[in-house]
Amino acid sequence: MTFVVTENCIKCKYTDCVEVCPVDCFHEGPNMLVIDPDECIDCTLCEPECPAEAIFSEEELPDGQQAFKALNAELAKQWPVITEKKDTRPTPRNGTAAPESSSSSSAEANRFVRARRGARSASRRRGLLRFLDGLDELVGVMNPPM
Ligand code: SF4
Ligand code: SF4
Repeated sequence: MTFVVTENCIKCKYTDCVEVCPVDCFHEGPNMLVIDPDECIDCTLCEPECPAEAIFSEEELPDGQQAFKALNAELAKQWPVITEKKDTRPTPRNGTAAPESSSSSSAEANRFVRARRGARSASRRRGLLRFLDGLDELVGVMNPPM
């Protein structure tokens, strides 16, 4: 038996799980972690550590997540081992994520900045409209209809 990392791990990477694994069977890819089924000793320690509830025993995989068993086995052969928890930083998607060096993470950061700028200029537009409405009212009070 092995434990399996599933969909909820994608782009999350709190990486709390890796520090408790006694046999270093977590591997890190660009968007998620996987467990090497040949190394996992079924100790169950990682499962309660995952805040995203992404880790399951292979016998208790939720519906629709079964494909992750083969995916973990395959990707664990290609991705490097990770043994230390990473620092996290805010992202627009879920509040936190680990730092990444890939261009996809900088693209995501750029999208975040653009979204923040868009929100700020929309807020400025709303403020200006409120100000103009107030001016209209003031002009109406000072120049009542004859
Ligand atoms: S704690 Fe859970 S969501 Fe985070 S990296 Fe580990 S398996 Fe993935
Ligand atoms: S069940 Fe134990 S051995 Fe397997 S991945 Fe989790 S912590 Fe590591």
